[in-house]
Amino acid sequence: MAYLCPRCGSPVSRAYNSGAQFTAGLIGALFVAAFGSFGCQKCGKIPRAEFADADRRKMLTGSVIMALVALAVAVGVLALLSNN
Ligand SMILES: [Zn+2]
Repeated sequence: MAYLCPRCGSPVSRAYNSGAQFTAGLIGALFVAAFGSFGCQKCGKIPRAEFADADRRKMLTGSVIMALVALAVAVGVLALLSNN
């Protein structure tokens, strides 16, 4: 999933907070990835409102999928724990 910066046209990536990822673990990391903002290497954080409608729709779809994966992981972990 590569998106272009609406300001300069450079590729943007989802902005991860490594500290939050470290403390929250895999599930937290997935939620950060799903709902974190995008950042351009040149312009810094880019609000989603600045992206084109088509890109925003794709981002939303990707976020929903990642949130569902995170929920599935959480349910799986809970199932494993309750079996012990
Ligand atoms: Zn940019």
